[in-house]
Amino acid sequence: MLLGPSGAGKGTQGELLSQFYNIPWISTGEILRDAVSKGDELGKAARAYMEKGALVPDALIIEIVKVRLSKEDCKRGFILDGFPRTIEQAKELDNLLKEDAKRLKVIHINLHPSLILKRICGRRTCRGCGTLYHLEFSPPSSSGICDKCGSVLYQREDDSEDVVRKRIEVYNINTRPILGYYGERVHEVEGEGKIEEVFERIKGVI
Ligand code: AMP
Repeated sequence: MLLGPSGAGKGTQGELLSQFYNIPWISTGEILRDAVSKGDELGKAARAYMEKGALVPDALIIEIVKVRLSKEDCKRGFILDGFPRTIEQAKELDNLLKEDAKRLKVIHINLHPSLILKRICGRRTCRGCGTLYHLEFSPPSSSGICDKCGSVLYQREDDSEDVVRKRIEVYNINTRPILGYYGERVHEVEGEGKIEEVFERIKGVI
């Protein structure tokens, strides 16, 4: 489980961990963005919250995670990114995993607030495969095009400065208390530095 504010590197590290351990990377934000772009029922229900930088209601998110974790590819393990985001979600996850809940590695990627905006404002995502880039820290080889699948890169609508500030506030109020919920089980990892350095720190914990 990767915890930490937006821009801490949860998505980037989640993708790398997924490749390394060959287990799925489950980002509730990505699942929701996909639903919004398809315009399905879930997308319609989630869109307004996401645009404002608010949290999508717990009941919707918990249902998404329940369905996703029941899939065959999660049997050997999985990486949670962006979930849980409230204490209620954390409790529901415990209920869902039962005995296995004790085996979760809770990893908090810590990032100094002054770096958050810089990280997020340069962030770009591939329309095709969801791979993450950063204009300064991990640019694609050819501008605006994904190295992996050749699709165009876009900037998330909720990565504008106003919405990011709101998301940071929501994180501090709703999500940060989760660290208290997990208590001594939380492994702190410093999120500053090169992608590979942070990756090594996380692997060290796992
Ligand atoms: P992320 O990609 O993790 O930054 O998530 C983008 C947006 O999706 C968030 O700002 C929320 O609006 C919504 N979202 C993602 N995961 C959750 C969650 N676990 N609980 C509530 N809302 C979520």
